[in-house]
Amino acid sequence: MDSKKLFGTNGIRGLANKELTPETTAKIATAIGTFFNKKNLLVGHDARTSGPMLAKAVIAGLTATGCNVFFAGMAPTPALQFAVKNHCMAGGVIITASHNPPEYNGIKVIWKDGIEISHEQEADIEKIYYENKIVLAEWNKLGTTYEMPVVNGEYVQAVKKHVNTSQIAEKHYHVVIDAANSVGGLTAPQLLRELGCRVTSINANIDGTFSGRLPEPRPENLTVLAATVKAVGADLGVAFDGDADRSIFVDEKGQVYMGDKTFAVVEKYFLIENPGAQIVTPVSSSTLIKETAETYRGEIVWTKVGSVTVSQKMKEINAKLGGEENGGVFYGPHQAVRDGAMTTALILEIMAKTGKKLSKLIAEQPQYFIEKGSVECPEDKKEKLLEKLHEQVKGANVSTVDGVKIWFEDGSAILIRPSGTENVYRLYAEAKSHEKALKLVKDYSAMLRKILTAI
Ligand code: MG
Repeated sequence: MDSKKLFGTNGIRGLANKELTPETTAKIATAIGTFFNKKNLLVGHDARTSGPMLAKAVIAGLTATGCNVFFAGMAPTPALQFAVKNHCMAGGVIITASHNPPEYNGIKVIWKDGIEISHEQEADIEKIYYENKIVLAEWNKLGTTYEMPVVNGEYVQAVKKHVNTSQIAEKHYHVVIDAANSVGGLTAPQLLRELGCRVTSINANIDGTFSGRLPEPRPENLTVLAATVKAVGADLGVAFDGDADRSIFVDEKGQVYMGDKTFAVVEKYFLIENPGAQIVTPVSSSTLIKETAETYRGEIVWTKVGSVTVSQKMKEINAKLGGEENGGVFYGPHQAVRDGAMTTALILEIMAKTGKKLSKLIAEQPQYFIEKGSVECPEDKKEKLLEKLHEQVKGANVSTVDGVKIWFEDGSAILIRPSGTENVYRLYAEAKSHEKALKLVKDYSAMLRKILTAI
């Protein structure tokens, strides 16, 4: 928190009690409160051990500036985002570090429409924080705190309104839910039971140490889920990240899919019903998303990587669907933010409507192989590396919307971009064969390392 920047790609993140101490957090909250200027704000947190402590610091900071706080307690990020909009709050503060390990926590600031504030608004808060423009209220003008325990229940009912509940219920699907010992377990089991599903839960108890698995729903963290789906003969498995805005699915055979593939399933059936619709997705998404849009008469709008950018673009052009390769699906008719429970309901509806299992829905898609890699790069060399990279790949079929994306004639592609949260460059390659995708990551990692030694 020493630099002149608080916000990263996705809100403020830091180690609990190292970077995000009660003191720092309360001060950040006074800057946020000053920004909102004595309005009503919703506050909630995920299951992390530091959640209740940091929530108290946030509430202290916000009420100190004269904002009233409606405290929702523990809830999924999308449930809190929905509540901000649904209860006509001026905004909200969510204490979560999403998929990061348990020792981290973070602060997301939400605008009145439920979407994370824009990067310009983040800069306004940073200015208040670093230039000592915090305005504390007089002793008799302090904000009041109200308990608001209805958020999770209202959210479940809101998600149900966007799917054909009786069509899903007729199928009596058996679904295994892996909530990573976090807030997804507070809403998803109830939602699926109300959709007529039989639910088996693993990692369902709330445990801020994430004792069951790490909160990032990568395939290597989901082996127990995959095995459970097979063992109990379930129709589907779903895993959420730490704040349940992302969902990764497992088919009835125990196969775990990357988010691109399930997003493309949602995209296809959305476009069949909404031909000509715009689909918002970052340049990190697979060519599969582009190909699906071309086949089903949609239009892709590419953005920089980051869920806030996707939400903001959806808002700007009034798009109804967005998605990311990491399992984030943004369903505009509900809310233009990532929403794990909404995505699960949509996948179940597509399965019910088509009578097809997830394995079949995915087998029908064009197949691309994705490989990811990373190369360590100190923060102060990131910009220079990007400059050099631009020079080296000049002349090829290149996009510089975010980092460098190169498309090759055989349909393969690679995206190379600096991470917003870590001192690394990330590489995402895709190709019609696994070997080709691996080779792209290997070749371009070597190229990055070579450039780095020279700068
Ligand atoms: Mg998340």
